[in-house]
Amino acid sequence: MQILINKRRTQFLDHLCVKKRQSRVDVYIGFLKDFSGKQIYDIEDSDVLDFLILKDVNGSGRTVVHHRACPRLGSASLEYCLDKTKCSSRHTANSMRIGIVQKLRKGFEEVGRKGQYDPTMAKGDPTRSKLVQEYIAYKHLEQGESGIKPKSARSMHRIKMDKFMANLKLEVRGRKGIVKLRIAERRAMYAFCYSAIKRLFGAGNILAHNTIRMPNNAGLVFNVTWDKTLRMDSHCFGFLCVKEVEPWCAHCIIDEWVALAREMIHLTFQDGLLFPRLNYDGTVKHGKRWRAKDISDSLERDLKRYHLYEGETPHSFRHGGTVDSLKKGKNLEKTMCLAYMKSTSTAKIYSKGITHLFPAGFDWKEAGVDTSKTDEVDLACQMQAWKAFVSEGPTM
Ligand SMILES: [Zn+2]
Ligand SMILES: [Zn+2]
Repeated sequence: MQILINKRRTQFLDHLCVKKRQSRVDVYIGFLKDFSGKQIYDIEDSDVLDFLILKDVNGSGRTVVHHRACPRLGSASLEYCLDKTKCSSRHTANSMRIGIVQKLRKGFEEVGRKGQYDPTMAKGDPTRSKLVQEYIAYKHLEQGESGIKPKSARSMHRIKMDKFMANLKLEVRGRKGIVKLRIAERRAMYAFCYSAIKRLFGAGNILAHNTIRMPNNAGLVFNVTWDKTLRMDSHCFGFLCVKEVEPWCAHCIIDEWVALAREMIHLTFQDGLLFPRLNYDGTVKHGKRWRAKDISDSLERDLKRYHLYEGETPHSFRHGGTVDSLKKGKNLEKTMCLAYMKSTSTAKIYSKGITHLFPAGFDWKEAGVDTSKTDEVDLACQMQAWKAFVSEGPTM
């Protein structure tokens, strides 16, 4: 037993270690200590100020800010600016405040440096000093005068998405080997993200086993249990097959990826992730999952290949989807309550996902489901048959 305890403890401590290493707080505090050449207890507000100024002049900021007197005000380029010090590429005031100052503040808090900063004694939290606050305010003013508008995520328009999916389809067809498979996976993830409507980044955490295929292969429903950005009440959503009415169908594209992975690398999708990370030799990286950054990088590369890139991020997919092509049925909620909540509590979760798809209800008769039966075993069997990838998959 002691061995088991030790093993589990080591596992947990490793996790803490990695978490600490990855935290932005530690990264920025580390930078600040190196930059000032001081220990965290000796850092003064002027060190923090110089660090923020460094961030504004070292080219790490991406927002073009012209000086109020620059004739090029409003232009997205600095090329013709007369004074390249007054006009430059900087961090926005907000991203500096949230992305850097607040991270540093947490770092100071962790060692007990809290509260108002006292410049005479150099005590307290140096990020709360007047000097640092005034710098952020100065940046706000500067950017306001420069006409910088707050940016929102660029949306992925339907027409562009259609072009993107068409290009990727050709790409999958034209390629061979693992490259082909990896593109097929990315294509499936993009289709998933666009059609899932709500939020992104969940793709990397979906278990194949938790995916439900709707009766008559009408669509897929996903149950996501862990996704930092996904804050739906049920963590459950899905989409219908739209191959007859839309240029591409996420449900069919995901099936294509599954079929290809089964054929090429013998993934069964009985267990494991629906979108695992793959090595270049086609083996699965079991410890790794798709993260926001991986998806962003791949998306940028793939869009650039077809000259479609205009600053899209995985957030851009949010405004996509198949909402307007949803079928209309009737009385879904009642039917689900009657039929499924009785047999298993997970049905309740899935039913929420289906409700998203069929705001007006789902026509169970059309799908060939006899809802007059309320026998628990019978219904549980029926639900088992809905498991999306348990058998060899649907006929396509
Ligand atoms: Zn300028
Ligand atoms: Zn489909």
